Amino acid sequence: MKDLIEKYIRLVIKSGATDAKLIHPSSVVTAPWVRIKCQFGCPAYGQSYCCPPDTPDHHQTREMLDSYQRAILCHVEAPKIQGKKRQFKKYYTKLVDLEGLVFKDGYYKAFLFLSGPCRLCGECEKMNEKPCQHGYKARPSMESCGIDVFQTARNNGLSIDTLSKPDDTQNVYCLLMVD
Ligand code: SF4
Repeated sequence: MKDLIEKYIRLVIKSGATDAKLIHPSSVVTAPWVRIKCQFGCPAYGQSYCCPPDTPDHHQTREMLDSYQRAILCHVEAPKIQGKKRQFKKYYTKLVDLEGLVFKDGYYKAFLFLSGPCRLCGECEKMNEKPCQHGYKARPSMESCGIDVFQTARNNGLSIDTLSKPDDTQNVYCLLMVD
């Protein structure tokens, strides 16, 4: 199979990423504390099919990650600007489309982890006890599956810091599993 990784990295950047990097999934860190931080401290906990406790825990995610050889870590440096939410929605949609392209190219295990709560509906249908309305496009975030995003970025030479002021620049990460 022809290696298309370079093309995918270019497409991630074209979708709006600051940079993207081919990484080995063993550099992606999973940890038990991540879900606890979701459960106690995030107002979105339990309110979406893409958030804990509906997402895989860190053990399941580790098993999944260890069944891959290659992934692309996608990084956006996001200063506070007007329309940022809308821009991110577009970016995530493009990444989901890219996951579809990677799959069609023959990488049948392609899977995307996004960042933050699912933004596809105003209110998740979970709250109405109905099935997900966009099952083809909804993807969980890295952190909702027990991934330590900070250490994963740092392991791969990319920057991320906690934010101390509302106008601090965010560093946002998504992970495209390829193989
Ligand atoms: S697409 Fe809508 S229904 Fe599905 S997980 Fe996202 S918010 Fe919930």
